[in-house]
This record gives sequence, structure tokens and C-alpha cells, in this order.
Amino acid sequence: MSPLVVPPKRRYLVQFDPKRVPHLFTDVLIVGAGITGIRAALAVDPRLNVVLATKDRLKESNSVYAQGGIAGVFDPVDAFANHVADTVAAGKGLCDRAIVETVVREAPARIGELITMGALFDQTDGEIALTQEGGHSHRRVAHALGDATGKEIMRALIERARSAPQVDIWENTFTIDLLTYEGQCRGALVWNASHGKTFVWAKQTILATGGAGRLYRETTNPEIATADGHAMAFRAGCELRDMEFMQFHPTVLYIAGSSRHLISEAARGEGGLLRDCTGHRFMPDYDPAAELAPRDIVSRSITRQMEKTRHHCVYLDLTHLPKSLVMERFPHIRQVCAQFGLDLMRDLIPVRPGAHYMIGGVTVDNEARTTLPRLWAAGEVTSSGLHGANRLASNSLLEGLVFGLRAGRNASAAACGEADQFMALPLSPDDEAVIPSEAAFAEGGEPPESATLQLDDLLNSLNSEMWRKVGIERNAIDLESARQQVEFWDRYVGPHEFAMTKGWEMQNLLLVARLMIEAAIARKESRGTHARTDFPQTDPEQAEHIYLAANP
Ligand SMILES: Cc1cc2nc3c(=O)[nH]c(=O)nc-3n(C[C@H](O)[C@H](O)[C@H](O)COP(=O)(O)OP(=O)(O)OC[C@H]3O[C@@H](n4cnc5c(N)ncnc54)[C@H](O)[C@@H]3O)c2cc1C
Repeated sequence: MSPLVVPPKRRYLVQFDPKRVPHLFTDVLIVGAGITGIRAALAVDPRLNVVLATKDRLKESNSVYAQGGIAGVFDPVDAFANHVADTVAAGKGLCDRAIVETVVREAPARIGELITMGALFDQTDGEIALTQEGGHSHRRVAHALGDATGKEIMRALIERARSAPQVDIWENTFTIDLLTYEGQCRGALVWNASHGKTFVWAKQTILATGGAGRLYRETTNPEIATADGHAMAFRAGCELRDMEFMQFHPTVLYIAGSSRHLISEAARGEGGLLRDCTGHRFMPDYDPAAELAPRDIVSRSITRQMEKTRHHCVYLDLTHLPKSLVMERFPHIRQVCAQFGLDLMRDLIPVRPGAHYMIGGVTVDNEARTTLPRLWAAGEVTSSGLHGANRLASNSLLEGLVFGLRAGRNASAAACGEADQFMALPLSPDDEAVIPSEAAFAEGGEPPESATLQLDDLLNSLNSEMWRKVGIERNAIDLESARQQVEFWDRYVGPHEFAMTKGWEMQNLLLVARLMIEAAIARKESRGTHARTDFPQTDPEQAEHIYLAANP
């Protein structure tokens, strides 16, 4: 299928004068320091230099907030074939079976490595404790600190990265754009408050920037998830695919005034039940797997039940579970709920769905290679073929480990085999955006207050538009209306020259919103997380990817 062409408003978000911007050289540049970026960094040959750049502090990433766990076959009654079958079943015809096999078979080794690195997984009788989550036929989800798996894994990985001599960690460093020269990736243009804009020239570059949940009003994602990697890769000429697939998590705490905390899938895995405002347990009305149906089904069922009962949320009921189980397995959720006066042993938890995981992304092959030479990518920013049209719970930390390792190893091998070629480069990217900087605001300075206010307002509007029209259920009329609205905003925001991260994030969000809307319009069927009320059936003829390109 030929790609949908969506021209970005500009190739680089900022103008720059290569003679005035500082230049830095490294063997491998990694953009993003979640589970994927750090696993990649640790796979690079210690004789090489690695710059690991993250736009926030190391402890801010989707990875850190992961709760439920990481999937892997450890139980003797389970088998790789079961994990593969569950993943493929959830993916609704769009998984790449070879990729699924690879990832599933590597899971025990990758989780074992984490343990060697010092991550402490919860145990039962000296063995890794395993729980079950929606869509899994067996108990195969390893967890840590009860329900704070990401925090523990990232503690261990961050410690390793900090002590790895080859890894130079740059926190609070925003990557604005990938640099290309003669059709190849040559590093990135980054910005931080101390040095302003800097060219980081790299022999090999790895993109590990995570997801896009911040496009939506209701989301489990932290503030870093603004789709920057998707957007910068697209502007640099990378192919993206499957952008219509955003996974909505069914159970996000819904209390006015609270941030949207995830209530882990494991709460249902351990026996939690969903009830509507009348107390009725409704999931068996929608699916035989009831609360353990895949996320897309549970999210849609909740939405329908909310409409049926005309109530703003449904309720998760853990009150019938043994107190010891709730105390041991859900300490984090218990603590969060307690802040709002809710006692899990006595009270029902108000929940509704929220945007959770970006399934679509930069197309990569089984070696984490993108379509742009010298650029590798892994983790949530990619579409590897593992998740198809719907991600199985707890498969994404695993994907980050498996593909992070591959990206790091391959970038390392490629950089090792390469002489220092920087001398041969003109130290200027090959695009017309290279002109003296005329930033609208003083470079590196605080933006004028009015600019911040306008962006906040625009972000709220974009979030609502995406939630209402490109959300859990879509239709042609809403999608067309969202297309026109987002295109209108992008017409004046896209070409604007910002000198602040909020502005660049807004430009990235608008571009990625356009990509998602175009793909959602093009897929005239319902499949996985993409539910069209005007095309409710899955059409076997459309069991293929939708590709997106910046140029014909
Ligand atoms: C609340 C929550 C619970 C979850 N629970 C689970 C679970 O139990 N199991 C599971 O498998 N998955 C879970 N997930 C999903 C999983 O956490 C993510 O898919 C996974 O961690 C993504 O890893 P990543 O390394 O690709 O991205 P991230 O961990 O999000 O890391 C992205 C990195 O890129 C950086 N970055 C982004 N843009 C830029 C830029 N412009 N410049 C520089 N740096 C940038 C960020 O600062 C960050 O360091 C959960 C997600 C959330 C939000």
C-alpha cells in the first residue's frame, strides 16, 4: 500500500547558523532515557562514547511509572507458544509473527539480566512471583514493589548507566530535531538552558523517546509523553505506520482534582470486578472473558456502560479480595487512593479509560533499523510489529528491553566499524532551514507570559478535540472535523519560530495529531484499538499497515 503523504510545516523547528552553534562529536547519540534508551546505552561497546540525552530528569519517563509488570514465560505450565498466541490474538491480524516469536523467546533472558543488574522482583517461595493480566491465558507477569515495577527496574538501570564510564548522561536536554546530511542521520540538534542550541554529531543515533499520551485530555502518561520522537523522525524523512492505533487503558482513577493515576490491570488480574453506578457487574454482558478481556474491549464496554447509565465513571471493586493480597500487591494504588479518602478494603474506586500507549510509530525491522540510514529506534516510539492493532498488557517494557538491546548493539557495531568521518562533513545539515537564527523570543530565555498562556489554551483545546473526536470510538464526521480543526491550528503554530520547549512540544503534538487523524480516516473498519462506529466490523481486506511519509 502506498504511504499517505502528510507534509510537515517545516523540516527543522528552528533556524540556526551552523557557524554560531556549538558542535559536539560522539560515537552514539541516544535520545531518550527510559527503559529502552538506557538498555541501549548499556549495550554499546565501552570503548565508544555515548551521549544519552533526556529532556527531563532521569526519573521522568513512562517507564518509571509502569505498574503491573513485565511479561515472560517462567511458569512450567505455561509455554512460549501461549505467550505468542495471546500476543497475536490481541494484535488482531497486524502482528508480525516472527517479531512476536523473537520477543517472547527473549523475555526470560532479558528479565534475568535485569535481576543480574540488581532489580528486585517480587518472589513467592524463592521463585519470581507471577500475576495474570487481561488477554494473557496464563500467569506470566513478573512484578516488583507490588505495583511499582517500573520504579524498581529503572532504579537498577539508572544506577548501571550512571556508573558506565562510556555513558555521558545529559538531563534536561531537549532534542529539537534530527540532523540529516546526504539522506542519512548524523545526530541531532539539542537545546538546554546552559548551552542553548548545540549540534551533536553522531556516527549512529538511536531514538527512544517514548509515547504520545499527552495528546489526550485523559491520559496515564506523564508530561514527557508529547510525541517528540515521532514528529522529529517524520520531519527527517522516516516512515511511520499504524498511527491510528492508540491504546486506551480501561481503568484510570477518576476523581475531580486528582491527576489521572493508572489503576493497574493486575487489580483485575487478581480478581477485581467492574461495576456500574447501580452496583451491576457489567463486563460479562460484553465479553466472555469479562474483566480479563483485552483492553480495547474493556475500554469500549466501560464507555458504553457510562453512556447507558448516564454516569461519569464506573467503579473497580476490590472489597471482596483478601486484605493481605490487596496490602501486598497494591501498595502504591492503596496509597494514592488513601489521599482521596478511599479505602480499597471498603470503598469502590471510581475509574474511566484514558490514553495509555501509542502503538503506532517509526517503522523498524527486527534489528531496530529505521528507514533512515544511521538512525535506529526502539520502544514506544516505534512500530516493530509486536503489538499489531492492540498491545497485550506488560509486553511493552519487554519490547523496550529486547529492541533497546538490539538498537544499542547494532549502533555500536556500526560505529565501531567506522573511521572518524566527521572531518569529511561540512558540519552543516543539508537543508534550507540553515540560516542565521532569528528566533521570535530570546534564545534560551523565558518566553513572554502571553506565549505560555496561548500554548496552554491551545493544548487544552487539542486535548479535548482528540479525546472527543479521535478517542475510544471514532467516525468519519468527527474525524473530518478534527482534521480541519488541527490543520487550522497547525497552519499558524507549525511555521512559528519558538525558543522554548513548550512551543516545540506543541508543534510536535500538532504534527502527530495530523498523522493519527489521517491514518484513522484511512482505516475504514474497526480493528483492535481503532473502533469506528460507522464501520463496526473488521474487514479482512484491510488487514494491512497504513504507512505515512512526509514526501511523495
Ligand atoms: C502509568 C503507566 C503504567 C504502565 N504500566 C506498564 C506495565 O506495567 N508494563 C508494561 O509493559 N508497560 C507499562 N506501561 C507502558 C510502558 O511503561 C512504556 O511503554 C515504556 O516504558 C516505554 O519505554 P520507552 O523507553 O520507549 O519510553 P519512556 O520510558 O517514556 O522514555 C522516553 C524518554 O525519552 C525522553 N524524551 C522524550 N522526548 C524527548 C526529547 N524531545 N528530547 C530528549 N528526550 C526526550 C523522555 O524524557 C524519556 O527519558 C505503562 C505506562 C504508563 C504511563
